[in-house]
Amino acid sequence: MTTGMDAARDDSPRAGDGAPDGPPVVVRLAARVPAWARVGGEAATAGRVLLVFSGAVLVVGAVALGVDAHEARVLLGTVGALAAAVVLSLRRRGPRSPRATVAYPVGVLVLLGVLALTTTGTASAFIGLIPLCFVYLGLFHHGRTALAVLPVAWAAYLAILPVFDAASWIRLGVYGMTWWAIAQTLAVTTAYQRSLRRRLYADARTDQLTSLANRRDLDERLAEAVPGDTVVIADLDHFKRVNDTLGHAAGDVVLERFGHAIAQHLRRRDYAARYGGEEFVLILPRTEPVQAVNVLRALRTEWAEEGHGVTFSAGIALITEGTPPGSALAAADVALYRAKNAGRDRSRIATERIVPRPRAQAPAAGP
Ligand code: GH3
Ligand code: MG
Ligand code: MG
Repeated sequence: MTTGMDAARDDSPRAGDGAPDGPPVVVRLAARVPAWARVGGEAATAGRVLLVFSGAVLVVGAVALGVDAHEARVLLGTVGALAAAVVLSLRRRGPRSPRATVAYPVGVLVLLGVLALTTTGTASAFIGLIPLCFVYLGLFHHGRTALAVLPVAWAAYLAILPVFDAASWIRLGVYGMTWWAIAQTLAVTTAYQRSLRRRLYADARTDQLTSLANRRDLDERLAEAVPGDTVVIADLDHFKRVNDTLGHAAGDVVLERFGHAIAQHLRRRDYAARYGGEEFVLILPRTEPVQAVNVLRALRTEWAEEGHGVTFSAGIALITEGTPPGSALAAADVALYRAKNAGRDRSRIATERIVPRPRAQAPAAGP
């Protein structure tokens, strides 16, 4: 059975997985990128931004440095390779491994190394692209990925160095540690923010008492329901009496246990939410109302066996082309009150088509 919690759990990958909730700064950055350039999720989008930015830096650098013809050709070739990589990455459709986005910073580092090997001194102007690659790695990959990329960065740096002396060893060590620290720090804080956001998302969509989805989550799930799905409203009978005789705390326990019974009983594809108070809404995908009656009958039997002495009534409605989810919920509500009027502890299937209306206007409960 799916709940608001599950929705949050489903939303668990790192930004590299193309999840819709990346680091805020990246979200803002990605939002400025045209839709056609956002193929493959945030990590791919940011990777392309890294390539384009590196290319722009090379062009501006070439102009500012006043490079000779040979260096201009090499720089042009490097920018061309970056542009080709961007175009190729846009053409690739379909699922791809988020890990593959490590190719973006690695590509920049390799091109930087090639630039250093084929020109004299020009590449040192672009050494700042190395930490930028580690910023990208920190935002979209694990710290250990940054560690694996470190040799490539070292190689590029070594190619850039005009001479290699004793101080170069120290620079290699300190720079390497700094680059990795940038990536690691970003990876850890990003992961923390991500888990915090997941928890907040789950809390915002989960009913605290029953651990089922809450009304907010239900509204969204209901909007996704399609013809052929069945909606059920289940309402505990004379629940007020439980509170009045046993106390509110005992009433809470019954609600919690009923939520648990629903969660245990429903099929994997089914969905349950606490609609409010002692009312619960179920969405049973690809289920006929008659099947729903059987599902509820089995739930009724199990619930009775728990021995809380509380029964429940239910209204059932099928979503059809002519009865959208909102109307089906309203129809299930009317059917629920028919079940109450017929003596409670039973289910009723909606027979009439209902125009959605606020719950406050629903027919009054039976005696
Ligand atoms: P019916 O069979 O017609 O549904 O009668 P009922 O008593 O169940 O319905 P009514 O709407 O009169 O009362 C619902 C009660 O549910 C009243 C309210 O105090 C109680 N209730 C709503 N939310 C909670 C809750 O979170 N905890 C507890 N313990 N009680 C709650
Ligand atoms: Mg009730
Ligand atoms: Mg009620």
